[in-house]
Amino acid sequence: MSLVITGGGVVTMDAARRILSPGAVAVDGRDIVAVGTPEEIGRRFSAAETIDAAGSLVVPGLVNTHTHAPMVMYRGLADDLALMDWLQKYIFPAEAKTVSPEMVRIGTRLAALEMIQSGTTTFADMYYFEDEIARATKAAGLRAVLGQTIIGFPVADAKTPAEALRRTEAFIEAFAGDDLITPAPAPHSLYTVDEQTLRAVRDLSARHRTPILIHLAETEDEVGIIRDRHTMSPASWLEKVGLVGPNVVAAHGVWVTDDDIAILKRTGTAVSHNPESNMKLASGTAPVPRYLAAGVTVGLGTDGAASNNDLDMFEAMRQAAFLHKHASGDPQAVPAAAALEMATIVGARALGLDRVIGSIEVGKRADLIVVAMDGARQTPMYNPVSHLVYVARGDDVRTTVVNGKVLMRDRRMRTLDERVVLADARALAAKVREAVAATR
Ligand SMILES: [Zn+2]
Repeated sequence: MSLVITGGGVVTMDAARRILSPGAVAVDGRDIVAVGTPEEIGRRFSAAETIDAAGSLVVPGLVNTHTHAPMVMYRGLADDLALMDWLQKYIFPAEAKTVSPEMVRIGTRLAALEMIQSGTTTFADMYYFEDEIARATKAAGLRAVLGQTIIGFPVADAKTPAEALRRTEAFIEAFAGDDLITPAPAPHSLYTVDEQTLRAVRDLSARHRTPILIHLAETEDEVGIIRDRHTMSPASWLEKVGLVGPNVVAAHGVWVTDDDIAILKRTGTAVSHNPESNMKLASGTAPVPRYLAAGVTVGLGTDGAASNNDLDMFEAMRQAAFLHKHASGDPQAVPAAAALEMATIVGARALGLDRVIGSIEVGKRADLIVVAMDGARQTPMYNPVSHLVYVARGDDVRTTVVNGKVLMRDRRMRTLDERVVLADARALAAKVREAVAATR
């Protein structure tokens, strides 16, 4: 046995939503091989490494269904703007000047450090030079669905959509069958990618059986653009070009009608809800209670750190729960249990990974985190699920395990050199600052 975590409450998120308090988890290699009481596990197994989780909760690693990892490099670069202004006046120009393989490597390592420290074990990414992101992600030990961006104007890693498609296919072939990385195409959105390219993405995905990541109906402006061009809603256009299905993750889905929700439900298309980004950019309120009532698979995301401004999934859970209570006037909208599901087992389902991760169950990969619950802020604890959503913060994560490998133990990093990662990011930030100043 390689690893035993024992003595803490185990929030399994299995079908019965069992909570063992105290419980224990035994891991062999990359897999969970037993879940039980500390006595049972102690009797049956002796492990190379044992982690005492007393005073903590053991929870499935959190699943961030939408981010742009290297954009941590633009954290706080342009705040307090609406999406279209923010993108077109600040982010796209900054990216044109600064996105490079080096930027993406340094940014991904910084994002990985933050994710490991705040309990995210799997993330879905949409960015450029996704092969570099994949290598940095693997080196950090994280699991990810990585979407190579395809967009309708020249960008750092492709002059044309056709070039982006070729790059995407090469990326998919290079990482096919990887244990940690699921490669995918990521057409940026319906308003930045033309019909021919969207259909080519559908064919590419069908050929290689990949997920597809896309932004959908994020703002009211987008709805107007798609209506003007195609005389239908974004969700209808998405269906028309064939980019719907259980392998598709539509980020945001803020501006949708009941008919749009029916399309997403009927086709099994998943939605990634990003409450903090939607609030910060004033994009609107996604109708999450209506999605949940309709049975749409809704995962949670942080979006990129330029619009959040962090990658803390605990905050995303809490904000999701608060936003929908506030918006609906119903305190039962998105209860704690639903928020925790969106960040674990349902998020895993959104990414097509729920048979592998998302819960602490025998046979699944050991992707789990140990969250401290013995400080002043967490005391007393009557209900672990309530505390995970309404009290815990990313900083409370003590230990992070992915694929059976301990990436951080007691806040000590094992796969990343924290000082080097931070120093590299600060050095690169000086270049970003210069490049952006030159465009103003
Ligand atoms: Zn996004």
